[in-house]
Amino acid sequence: MNAILVEMDGFETDEGIIIIAATNRPDMLDPALLRPGRFDKVIMVDLPDVKGREGILKVHAKKVRLAKDVDLSVIAKLTPMFSGAELEALINEAALIAVSRDKDAVDMECLEEARDKVKWGTQKKSRVMEEEDRRIIAYHESGHALAAYYLPDADKLHKVTIIPRGMSGGATMLQPKKELLNLRRKRLLDDITLMMAGRAAEELFSNDVTTGAQNDIHRATEIARMMVTEWGMSDQLGPIKYGLVNQSMFLGADFLGKREFSEETARKIDEEVQKLIGSCYERAKDLLREHRDEVELIAQSLMRYEALSFEEVETLIKTKDIESLNTRKKSAEERKNDKRRGDERKGENSPSPQHQSDNS
Ligand code: ZN
Repeated sequence: MNAILVEMDGFETDEGIIIIAATNRPDMLDPALLRPGRFDKVIMVDLPDVKGREGILKVHAKKVRLAKDVDLSVIAKLTPMFSGAELEALINEAALIAVSRDKDAVDMECLEEARDKVKWGTQKKSRVMEEEDRRIIAYHESGHALAAYYLPDADKLHKVTIIPRGMSGGATMLQPKKELLNLRRKRLLDDITLMMAGRAAEELFSNDVTTGAQNDIHRATEIARMMVTEWGMSDQLGPIKYGLVNQSMFLGADFLGKREFSEETARKIDEEVQKLIGSCYERAKDLLREHRDEVELIAQSLMRYEALSFEEVETLIKTKDIESLNTRKKSAEERKNDKRRGDERKGENSPSPQHQSDNS
């Protein structure tokens, strides 16, 4: 840092040189850098909004051949909270998918699948799952999916699968209903309830619980703690920030922090967090009990088809009949047979076609 400061001091003000620097950890900058006469102007660059995303997609899409049906404004709408780097990865990923399927241009199908891949990781079609594991995961994800469907303030359900992806055995993918600047209390409570619904479903439908809910529990606890200590949303503790005193700006808030509240308050914070999570967990269980048959149906369908779109979950809930999906979907078993036939046609040396989660 001293080196930067010395270099900057070397310029005269009339030389017409502008120094621009970027960081994603402004909290860790030494105050010396920000003193007047050094970096004078700070420009916050937020995640791009829908217009910005369309612009970024257009820039990166110049490198690939797009099919005629491609409308980048639709993809921009489907990618809230994506960063510029993620949008670039999406285009690259879509090009790879197009190549692996012998397509001569990137079409909408490739782009949408690339979006899922960038946001939620690659599907691991080859990992073999025990039948019992599959069953519990199906109930866990059905719990999330049902909660997402019924909770008014949570994000909208996009897709639910029990195809392993990344570190997890299944996934319930959500899509923001709108891009929000501030999160309301009701919305946060619905979020926690949605996260708890996975574990709640395990408890209600498989009378045992698994480690699969670790990530849900982690995230829910984080939100509840923020609600109490940062966002002033606990009635008992009031709108006060219970944080850490920053002893060294340079090392960042994670290090050398000292609590600025008493033991007694610390205990109250823990109690409030417990209360928040506990009541959301109960709410999740009530919701699942109330819609027990629907959870059962979604889980059965997941075990048969592996992936369900929002529209398919809605069809299930409305018709209460698993056969209502039959005309539109192939079962996991049928897909495996299709794939085998495809492989035979292609010959042994050619790479096998990529597995898709058919939710056409
Ligand atoms: Zn979960």
